[in-house]
Amino acid sequence: MAISNAEWDIMRVVWTKGQATSGDILTVLGAKNDWSASTVKTLLKRLVDKGYLATSKLGKGFIYSALLAESDAMAEQVDEAFSKFCRTKHVAILEHLLADRPMTEADISALQLLLEKKKASAVDKVVCDCVLGQCKCKEHLN
Ligand SMILES: [Zn+2]
Repeated sequence: MAISNAEWDIMRVVWTKGQATSGDILTVLGAKNDWSASTVKTLLKRLVDKGYLATSKLGKGFIYSALLAESDAMAEQVDEAFSKFCRTKHVAILEHLLADRPMTEADISALQLLLEKKKASAVDKVVCDCVLGQCKCKEHLN
């Protein structure tokens, strides 16, 4: 299920702290997002309804913990972003990302290893699966 920017902001706080109260979230994000306590509670309820957060009683209030792993959520966000681009352009986007990110030598070695392994599953051609008229791939031109 899609996650809004506001919900993502909250999830990051919960992932960072392990568990968080609405007060914790207001402390971290209240000034940045100009949120009131009731805004935070509304967003938390939405995240519980979506199954991304669990809630348990803590004193008079509630404490929230993540049911969605940060790594899974990040992968989902990136997959969703890439699904908006023609498959034949994915490598160009990856090249752009790799060129711009700061990386350690260990990061670069890990990527080189990944690419070496990727050779085993290389395809002859990346086939576009776009809707007709949304890209210029030959498959759609007949
Ligand atoms: Zn395409």
